Amino acid sequence: MASTTATSPQPVGTTGAGTVGVLLPLPLRGPYDYRVPAGMAVAPGDFVSVPLGPRQVAGVVWGAGQGDVPPAKLRSIAAKLPVPPMPRYRREFLGWLANYTVSPVGAALRLAMSVPAALSEPRFRVGYVAAANPPAKLTAQRRRVLEVAAGGSPRSAADLAEAAGVGAGVVRALADAGALVPVRLAAEEGFTRPDPHHTGLALSGAQGQAAAELRAAAGAGDFSVTLLEGVTGSGKTEVYFAAVAEALARGRQALVMVPEIALTAQWLERFHARFGVAPAEWHSELPMARRRATWRAVADGTAPVVVGARSALFLPYADLGLVVVDEEHDGSYKQEEGVIYNARDMAVVLGRLAHIPVVLVSATPSLETVVNVQSGRYRHLQLPDRFGGAELPTISAVDLRTDPPPRGHWLSPTVVKAVGEALAAGSQAMLFLNRRGYAPLTLCRSCGHRMECPNCQAWLVEHRHAGRLECHHCGFHAAIPEKCPNCTAPNSFAACGPGVERVAEEVARLFPEARAAVMASDTIAGPTAAADLVRAVAEHRVDVLIGTQIVAKGHHFPLLTVVAVVDADLGLAGGDLRAAERTYQLLSQVAGRAGRAERPGRVFLQTYAPEHPVMEALLSGDRDAFIAREATERRDHDLPPFGRMVALIASGTDPDRVAQFVRALARAAPAVPDVHVLGPAPAPLAVLRGRHRHRLLVKATRAVNVQDYLRRWLGAVPVPGGVHLAVDVDPYSFL
Ligand code: ADP
Ligand code: ZN
Repeated sequence: MASTTATSPQPVGTTGAGTVGVLLPLPLRGPYDYRVPAGMAVAPGDFVSVPLGPRQVAGVVWGAGQGDVPPAKLRSIAAKLPVPPMPRYRREFLGWLANYTVSPVGAALRLAMSVPAALSEPRFRVGYVAAANPPAKLTAQRRRVLEVAAGGSPRSAADLAEAAGVGAGVVRALADAGALVPVRLAAEEGFTRPDPHHTGLALSGAQGQAAAELRAAAGAGDFSVTLLEGVTGSGKTEVYFAAVAEALARGRQALVMVPEIALTAQWLERFHARFGVAPAEWHSELPMARRRATWRAVADGTAPVVVGARSALFLPYADLGLVVVDEEHDGSYKQEEGVIYNARDMAVVLGRLAHIPVVLVSATPSLETVVNVQSGRYRHLQLPDRFGGAELPTISAVDLRTDPPPRGHWLSPTVVKAVGEALAAGSQAMLFLNRRGYAPLTLCRSCGHRMECPNCQAWLVEHRHAGRLECHHCGFHAAIPEKCPNCTAPNSFAACGPGVERVAEEVARLFPEARAAVMASDTIAGPTAAADLVRAVAEHRVDVLIGTQIVAKGHHFPLLTVVAVVDADLGLAGGDLRAAERTYQLLSQVAGRAGRAERPGRVFLQTYAPEHPVMEALLSGDRDAFIAREATERRDHDLPPFGRMVALIASGTDPDRVAQFVRALARAAPAVPDVHVLGPAPAPLAVLRGRHRHRLLVKATRAVNVQDYLRRWLGAVPVPGGVHLAVDVDPYSFL
């Protein structure tokens, strides 16, 4: 686990006499030397623009120059950029990240410089107001523009033209004639400071106690990690808002990290209810202008609260005072490309380096976090009950061996009956299946041919609604062919197995009156559509919601009483280290959607293995026993978090080249006690996007500095052209 590895950050020096090291946001192992021109003063952390080959690139002064470039060849810094310097702790953080993930430090810097446009002086926009003395004679169009301009605050030319229903030329002509006076508009739309004293909800006893402790932690202004654990519906959000309020009351900034930012409309509404304003949002779908405005507002401290996905860790906070990681166990905190890191772990590292408190929030904390609580490294606050006296739902198994659905159907009689009862009572039902599309496999009935992705070793998934076959790994799609490509039999395809679309079809057959909706990442067009659907469910304009894991996250649907998991065994297949833990977390979260208000909830798990430890834990509600068992198993085998693990994945289009490289790599592995290298072997997803993939797994005890080991090893084996080697420390996905 990241927070305990004792590795020192990149050294940060002071500026030398006229020469400094400038780190560039490129995959470089260290800074390059540049000359500081006469009349310019720079210090570590300053953002500067420097020449690199024929280009100008922005970088950060990292420390003293190395002196490894002959003075004659040394190039000069072109300009100091008008943004606040990167403080020392953030430079240390990037160094730490690079070291831990065995990545070039320049690649880590790139994460912190994701908005190049934010580094230049804000361009101001021009707005217009009507002049005091308008010309006497005016065309109708011009008069309309002046009427619009006369009312209220300055507006941009485009704005005026649109409001008056005229072309841009009319506005320009008025400006040229002096009838419109230009004024400078604020560069960007700003953020309003949330009011920490805005009335929140009155907290219950347990909530109030937990909130007081979090306030104390947030007020202490020092590093601490607190796990806020509470059953689904216990009001964790309301409680950690108290910590946010405390940070705000002290004039500092707060970062709240949430998974799947697109789906947080309900969260934003609650934030607004609590603080009276909206926070700054940060995620990949943000429009460019908003990214730039947010980046700068975070840098100058005028964005006091940021809610964001993992990349929000790398924003240039002026004075960060608190980090909250909601749903800390969530797999989407793992960045799987480029610099491969876990944002939950890195939030803890950032907290330590910035000397600020970190709050991890979950109903089903990760084993890593539980172990840190047990060892006393993390504090622990618990909310044992649902808020407002709501009961946790009852969970029962539907044994598919004895209570199967009819042939070609996916819902067992027990589930159908329960959904019918919910609908009859004016309640809602949710059917959960973590598989998009109609059917995961399309098979030729004549010859048995399976439709496979041409780029990946994976089956194509039928999406009947869109009328095509799709690869869920690379995005390839094609129309369903009329003839089997193998035996040319016409119309011979059979859909095998269910996806959410197929379950929806069954619901439509069984409950033709019910208003059903499918919620999956491909059926909703974006954040707004997702928010609309969530609202429709909350307002009871939907009776049956059928969805993938995105329905499991955080939603509060008061009338939802029946939840059925169509295939509870789905996540358990494959030899994944975390399969059991992950399935337990996901299904608990799904179950947690049921019965959150007055009406009690019932949850049904359709399974072929009701005796599996995961099912037993869910059925009995004995999470502690499950965690203890899981912990023992991992401890016995030196698996994370008790041991260290790193996956090395080599990939390339030429299968022989990749295979040859991984064999050479395996042979070169230094023999060290307590380090085992397993493989190479084809990765479970052996071909992805046309690239052949081979994997090595490194297992080591906690005493081993696995990063040093990797650097020594990988440094000795050059990666040939056409091959890419990814280093995944603490792997989460084993595909
Ligand atoms: P969790 O995140 O623990 O699952 P939530 O924070 O979503 O729980 O709370 C569940 C529901 O209970 C929400 O609708 C929330 O607004 C409501 N709630 C929680 N605490 C209070 C409170 N003190 N007063 C009123 N409503 C509350
Ligand atoms: Zn594919």
